[in-house]
Amino acid sequence: MLNTEQREKLRHLLENRHRELREEIRQGLLDTRDQHFIDLAGQVRDLEEASVADLLVDIDLSMIDKHVGEIRDIDSAFLRMRTGSYGVCTDCGEAIAPPRLAAFPTAKRCRPCQENYERSHAGNSTPTL
Ligand SMILES: [Zn+2]
Repeated sequence: MLNTEQREKLRHLLENRHRELREEIRQGLLDTRDQHFIDLAGQVRDLEEASVADLLVDIDLSMIDKHVGEIRDIDSAFLRMRTGSYGVCTDCGEAIAPPRLAAFPTAKRCRPCQENYERSHAGNSTPTL
């Protein structure tokens, strides 16, 4: 399990990344020079963290899609930190190894479960020939 110091370090990492993503999204919205998106950019800056992904969910910009996906992962990591389930594998309930969390702070599964998951979901997103 993670000690408090390790968890705090990861939380800071995630907070910084969240801020970075919001700034990139804001910039991307401004770059469209579309008044609707420019209005949204202002809201991205002012909103509470948890609402950003919901605000942007319907926006059809590929750059935003990718960022929103990452923001959602971070939001759910924050949620798990609040509920005390952060760092615990959602599939088998075992603690996720700290080095894995350091490399992937948003990891929901331990490595074996993630590999299982990817094996059983492989092919879903890749077109068959
Ligand atoms: Zn597991």
